[in-house]
Amino acid sequence: MLTPFETSFTKVLNLTSDEALKRRFMVLDEPIQANMRFGLLLEVLDKVAEEAALSYVNRFYPEARVVTAAIDNIVVRNVTDMSRDVHFNARINQVGRSSLEIGIRVEQPGVPVRHIASCYFTMVARSGMGEEAVSVALPGLDYAEGIEKQRVEKALKRRTEYKQQQALLGEPPSQEEFEMLTGLHAAQDEPGFNGLLAGQLTADAWERMYPEQENVPKKIFGGYLIRRAYELSSICSEQVAPNRPIAAAVNRINFFYPVRMGDTLHYTTRVVYTNGSFICVEANIERISRDKATKALSNSCLFTFVNVDEELNRQPVPVVYPANYGEDARYLMAHRSCQTLIEDGEAV
Ligand code: GDP
Repeated sequence: MLTPFETSFTKVLNLTSDEALKRRFMVLDEPIQANMRFGLLLEVLDKVAEEAALSYVNRFYPEARVVTAAIDNIVVRNVTDMSRDVHFNARINQVGRSSLEIGIRVEQPGVPVRHIASCYFTMVARSGMGEEAVSVALPGLDYAEGIEKQRVEKALKRRTEYKQQQALLGEPPSQEEFEMLTGLHAAQDEPGFNGLLAGQLTADAWERMYPEQENVPKKIFGGYLIRRAYELSSICSEQVAPNRPIAAAVNRINFFYPVRMGDTLHYTTRVVYTNGSFICVEANIERISRDKATKALSNSCLFTFVNVDEELNRQPVPVVYPANYGEDARYLMAHRSCQTLIEDGEAV
């Protein structure tokens, strides 16, 4: 049996020595703060998680592949400094029957080391193609060391917490939440109301999937999809941000259905919630198969942005108003999801 330590995998982005690479990751060709393209960082993370998982899975099943099932919340602890390299230290934290939790610590070496984020990916090992694909049973790891045992516990806790949160989604609002929503609706009935309506703060895009984006045979690279979803969400958030919205957290990303070559994708993003300097944007990706026979939600993401000035000081954003049942539900879901992130108080 391997230990988690023996599954370690590191990827380095050489921003200090590779000018072309650095330029590819820049938001602007100017020396601004927080100049790293966060969407592209997510794309790299997904690839790193896949490689870390695959090198384990392929020891036992050389033909198997891994797919991303979910990405747990990612809180951005510090913005990336473009004058330092970025290290992605990945390791398997826990192995279930056919799923693996990959932990990735993103940091920048230097004194002191700069911690960018800690990320947790749930990957699933699959074998076979198309309809024939099945999950494969994986041998477990030997969690010998104290920290490895702790990480297993944390991985299981993350899973339970997510299930609890999902169960909560179906729950009616609490008294306090109900009053919050009632207040938002009452404001819209006031004469002269000129607040921002959530229903109008949307952006959408269409895209066709080409072989260029292919990852595992016939499927499309998940990292590419979340980058696109993030970039559109960022554009969407600019409709409410008076200053500059930058990534504060990824609340959650779920992959429901694989995207295939030839699919047409419809990305829809909407501002669902704001609070102080924070803006939550929901992004959904719907896939339409080439023969138009299948239409399915392939991916859903919730991103939190923080509105900042040039020195990265947080600046307030206006309130957004949900106007119907669906918007209320999304508002509440983001409100609940953000409470923990904001309470953590460690976001950028
Ligand atoms: P933790 O998960 O609460 O211990 O938070 P950390 O920020 O320390 O680490 C995040 C994840 O990155 C861990 O769960 C590990 O899977 C992985 N990781 C942490 N440190 C290292 C390291 O030194 N090398 C490698 N390869 N992976 C690491």
